[in-house]
Amino acid sequence: MTRVDVLVVGAGIIGLSSAFHVKRLCPSCRVLLVEKHPGPGHGDTGRSAAAFRAFFTSRTNMALAASSIAFYREVQEREGFDLGMRFTGYLFLLTEEQHQALAPVLEELRRRGLGYRVYSPEELEELLGLRTRPGGEEAELMQLPGIDVGVLAENAGIIRPERLVEYYSRRIGEMGVEALYNTRVEKILVEPEQPLGVPGEPLPWQKARVVGAATSRGEIRADVTIVAGGAETPFLLDPVGVDIHAKPKKRQVFVIRADRPELRRLLHAEGFNSLGLAPFILLPKGVYIRPAPEDNAFWVGASDHLGRPFSWEPDPQPEEHFYEYGIYPVLHNYLPAFENARPSSAWAGFYDISIDGQPVVLSEPGLVAAAGTSGSGIMKADAVGRIAASLALGKKRAALYGGEEVDASILGTRSRRVEEERLVI
Ligand SMILES: Cc1cc2nc3c(=O)[nH]c(=O)nc-3n(C[C@H](O)[C@H](O)[C@H](O)COP(=O)(O)OP(=O)(O)OC[C@H]3O[C@@H](n4cnc5c(N)ncnc54)[C@H](O)[C@@H]3O)c2cc1C
Repeated sequence: MTRVDVLVVGAGIIGLSSAFHVKRLCPSCRVLLVEKHPGPGHGDTGRSAAAFRAFFTSRTNMALAASSIAFYREVQEREGFDLGMRFTGYLFLLTEEQHQALAPVLEELRRRGLGYRVYSPEELEELLGLRTRPGGEEAELMQLPGIDVGVLAENAGIIRPERLVEYYSRRIGEMGVEALYNTRVEKILVEPEQPLGVPGEPLPWQKARVVGAATSRGEIRADVTIVAGGAETPFLLDPVGVDIHAKPKKRQVFVIRADRPELRRLLHAEGFNSLGLAPFILLPKGVYIRPAPEDNAFWVGASDHLGRPFSWEPDPQPEEHFYEYGIYPVLHNYLPAFENARPSSAWAGFYDISIDGQPVVLSEPGLVAAAGTSGSGIMKADAVGRIAASLALGKKRAALYGGEEVDASILGTRSRRVEEERLVI
């Protein structure tokens, strides 16, 4: 049996960041990270589209993302650790009505000193070759709206998740966090504080707490267990009666190579950033286009809601017809550069969707759980890890990077005080 101060379950970006911040705040703590895969970042962290933006309708999400982005920027620019972070910007293509609805978010961006730019339909047509008024039978059938305005969030772009994983895993190794890979947590252990040795403990009147986990390598006892199992978190917590209030939903990414002049021109579109790169583009109907300049490609995806089940499987596969009928018709009607473009590869993973599109970080005696990152966990991981670490160390407040302090219970299920997020992509 192993005994540690803090056990972290899951070496995705949330578990890594949590372990890092626990050790940073408590250098003398013995921290152990366990992961069922052979290394870190093999779960949904490695399947992400890895875009980031400090542009959300909820002020909490905005703060989590803005502080995490600032931390990653510091790592890349000051520490010199290349995270593949590129500030391409995030371009929302909107109807006038949607633009009006975003007014409070734009105001919040202004208040935080985070820049954005507005593009007219004529500018979008010229810079991207965008069809702002797609016409024809197909466009009518799909009820594709006309685009009246483009809003470019500037504190946004793309990052390489495997580099972020490497950064945190290297740093925690240097700091003395132990890591056990190929180790599956079978069960979270709950015991009464004063056991009697009778059947059915903990009994309703007994004070109970999480005391660690039973794993494929034996029992690990811990003062606090942080569960960061991503979309699989409910499988660990449901059996001990803790509800994370988040569910997995499949999401897919398709790679389109920029192997012809129109697509290359689009990939290197001018007028959005100083890099001469296309921004991350969000089209109507939830279709997104992420520039992937290192692969001379675009990654495209779409989020479907009604009809797509909440379910999890160990090896999710992309669906060719989802691209063909779900994404391609939207893509090529707005951007003729994609005419006849077919994916060269694809992958699938899971969003871990919470009730309001914001992470859940809850605590129970001996337990902290951090999950429900709702498709934006990479861009918020540093802040989520800080909050989880603060709770694990019994702190009431968590300091985000840049100095902003938040109540550490703000993302809990019982104590939740967040606005609903309306920009889950
Ligand atoms: C297609 C797609 C696109 C996305 N795009 C973006 C994006 O553009 N920007 C963004 O910020 N986010 C994006 N996300 C979301 C982002 O990838 C997730 O929010 C983030 O990776 C979640 O990290 P995590 O650590 O919670 O989960 P994971 O990375 O899944 O880590 C959880 C870990 O826990 C381990 N684990 C689970 N159960 C056990 C057990 N019983 N024993 C031991 N280990 C266990 C798993 O093996 C896994 O390694 C996207 C996700 C997908 C699927």
